[in-house]
Amino acid sequence: MAMVELEKRVVLDQFFEEIFYFKEEGLPFFKSLVGGEWVELNGGELTVSSPLTGDAIAKVSKASQEDARMAAANAKKGFESIKETSIEERLGIMGRAAEFLAQRRDDFVGVLMAESGKSLKEAEGEVRNTIERLKLCASEINEMGGKFIQGVSSKPIYGKFAMVIREPLGVVLAVTPFNYPLFISANKVIPALLAGNAVVAKPSSGTPLSLLLFARIMEKAGLPRGALNVIVGEGSEVGDALVSSDDIDMISFTGSSKTGMRIVEMAGIKKLQLELGGKTPAIVLEDADLEMAAEKCVEGALKNSGQRCDAISRILVQESVAEAFLKKVVREVGWMSEGGGIGPLVNEEAVEKVKRLVKDAVVKNAEVVIAGACEGLMCSPTVLDKVPLTADIAWEETFGPVLTIIRFKDFDEAIRIANSSSYGLDASVFTSSLDKAWKAAKELENGAVTINDYPSHGIGIFPYGGIKDSGMGREGLGYTLREMSREKTIVFNFTKTDGRGEKWT
Ligand code: NAP
Repeated sequence: MAMVELEKRVVLDQFFEEIFYFKEEGLPFFKSLVGGEWVELNGGELTVSSPLTGDAIAKVSKASQEDARMAAANAKKGFESIKETSIEERLGIMGRAAEFLAQRRDDFVGVLMAESGKSLKEAEGEVRNTIERLKLCASEINEMGGKFIQGVSSKPIYGKFAMVIREPLGVVLAVTPFNYPLFISANKVIPALLAGNAVVAKPSSGTPLSLLLFARIMEKAGLPRGALNVIVGEGSEVGDALVSSDDIDMISFTGSSKTGMRIVEMAGIKKLQLELGGKTPAIVLEDADLEMAAEKCVEGALKNSGQRCDAISRILVQESVAEAFLKKVVREVGWMSEGGGIGPLVNEEAVEKVKRLVKDAVVKNAEVVIAGACEGLMCSPTVLDKVPLTADIAWEETFGPVLTIIRFKDFDEAIRIANSSSYGLDASVFTSSLDKAWKAAKELENGAVTINDYPSHGIGIFPYGGIKDSGMGREGLGYTLREMSREKTIVFNFTKTDGRGEKWT
């Protein structure tokens, strides 16, 4: 049995043997999956480090630009095989993958904790969601069904009928971020394959291991050769080569708005699904259940140390209840910190960004209610009150454990502030008034509005996605499947009529 010790917590079994070997330094070296083979690529190697200790935990074969183009070309060949599989076969693969993943749950939990510094609870949740996602394929497959339209509405189409069928697109490029490295990647790979596409997947170079393990699961579950290709490489090096490749038919990207914009520039005419950044406002109105609002706002802001696109990143609280709300927030933050729910940030750059945003807000007269401190990548929560709208933290994505409280006088002002953001992913409203909830739902410029809870994309039973700089397209059960397939109209004419419906003689 091949044993790999990553941070002394992960032991990978023989199932994964083919995908890595040990290098001289004693670190496991992971290969990439291209054209149905686990191979070493030509771009050298990347070191994966634990955010908890800073220690190297693995090395990964790195793709060159030529490798990236080759992976896309191999996927094109893989498409020829997967598009011929029946839906029953694809569902069979997903079912077996769910079983294999459940059997190797501990390997995945360990790898997630090691590469992204997640707590045991968070890592277990991510693996559980991925298993659940695989199991739910059967419930969404009807979305691949077609439609029949009878030509009876006007003379020119009398006697004709059309079938609208749904087809796969070809090759889907899935590019994913560091914060949910297993689930977000799987949540693109699964529907892409289910729809009959081939895939090239590129994980974040900081957290590539869980996707490589997932690729092994999918391969063993019976995917046709070349249907799933996974390469690792820095986005700044291989990104353009992948995105601009003529072998790619669709790009499904989750990451920052800055990278999303680069993808838009480079892609040419390709279908795009972009899940980008956010600056989620939570509006707490004076008629809200403040106990619940404080609990939800704190959890919504601090889960995964605030490193979530849907994290509550601005709390807009009505002046008349601000003091009472703040007291409850402080108590909740204390409980959450004691409970050990706050893990490390992903890297030094993320820590520096949090420090910069907090410093800027304080210089501009925000009040520090709880002063967080950072030791290495571990940052304790900061609570800022009376944050002025001139502060950068009122507009920039924080991606760290900071509660940014902005006070407002009336509801219209809150909606104006919320909508002034360039982002439009999620928003929350806390109120006991149905009228106000409805007004907020209608007027807020976001892809989703959550009433009396924090936003949570979860496994996508409720669809999600952004507007404005937060992206385009929707992810979710059935929704992603539709995005990753296209409709084709086939018209049959069984009558001998001209364009005005007159009979030919
Ligand atoms: P990121 O820096 O934009 O990176 C995301 C992915 O894009 C990584 O795999 C990265 O590779 C790759 N990449 C970088 N430059 C590229 C290029 N020119 N062409 C193609 N790919 C390129 O984002 P992140 O820091 O990993 O993730 C955090 C961001 O993701 C936040 O803004 C967050 O809001 C967003 N997010 C959004 C959602 C949503 O559902 N809307 C969900 C989760 C996260 P490297 O790692 O090698 O640079």
